[in-house]
Amino acid sequence: MAKMEIDDRFSRFGTVGFTATSRVNDFMGYLDEGRVMGTCCKTCKLDFFPPRADCSGCLGNDLSWFDAGEKTGSLLTFSKMKYGPKGFEDDLPYTIAVVDFGSFKMFGRMSRDLEDEDIRIGMTLRVRANPLEGGRINYVFHRAEPARDGADINA
Ligand SMILES: [Zn+2]
Repeated sequence: MAKMEIDDRFSRFGTVGFTATSRVNDFMGYLDEGRVMGTCCKTCKLDFFPPRADCSGCLGNDLSWFDAGEKTGSLLTFSKMKYGPKGFEDDLPYTIAVVDFGSFKMFGRMSRDLEDEDIRIGMTLRVRANPLEGGRINYVFHRAEPARDGADINA
């Protein structure tokens, strides 16, 4: 009898894994390619992050992937963690945040490259894949580069 293959890519997500399998396992494949992906319902155009395999709007399951890393969002709220849940102790301190991308909101961590004093509600952020030790991976928010369209307000 053939051994059943289990797609457990999700077990590598984040500092501590809470689930190994998911109907949106391709999320991990994309993350390994450096892409943070959500899903969009082809029928009613609702965006989801974390990605969902089923639409909560129309209950359909015809969804496609979109690259959240191509979008910029606005920092809605954040909190610096000085105490962490079991498994996260070695990461302390770190800053968690919710970023509003318009059609969806994303919960995650701020990049360690961002200094506390540079973090402001409403600042423009982007999400990027973030490889961790031991082959694990998550995503973090970075400050979005200023637009380089020649529109320099100080000119
Ligand atoms: Zn839908």
